[in-house]
Amino acid sequence: MSYDDNNIFAKILRGEIPCKKIYEDDFVLSFHDINPQKKIHALVIPKGRFIDLDDFSANASSEEMVGLLKGINTVAKKLNISADTGKGYRALANISEHGGQEVPHLHFHLFGGEIVGKMVE
Ligand code: AMP
Repeated sequence: MSYDDNNIFAKILRGEIPCKKIYEDDFVLSFHDINPQKKIHALVIPKGRFIDLDDFSANASSEEMVGLLKGINTVAKKLNISADTGKGYRALANISEHGGQEVPHLHFHLFGGEIVGKMVE
């Protein structure tokens, strides 16, 4: 499967579709999920054209990998849910069909703002 440049997150990255932006730097864009499942439901996506976490792990540069992890931490801090606040959150990436991935551009969900419950329901 090759990367689909018409996926919705690619359009958000190109500025063709609006988003409720939380944070942006050279490596990531973060915005609020349009259909939040918890009080806080943020998405963090790499700027590169990666379908899912496996694609990213196999093909991203070291700089892009560090950039994504740092970006997640920065977003958690901005949202005041990082571990050092005593609150915390869940970071989750759905991968391909069995993982329930709907948008084929790698994204991490950050769920927080409340106790997020069981890992798999
Ligand atoms: P996944 O099932 O892991 O691929 O998650 C895709 C997520 O993208 C879902 O939680 C959707 O609610 C979210 N989503 C889809 N379209 C948009 C959009 N335009 N802006 C923000 N979030 C979106």
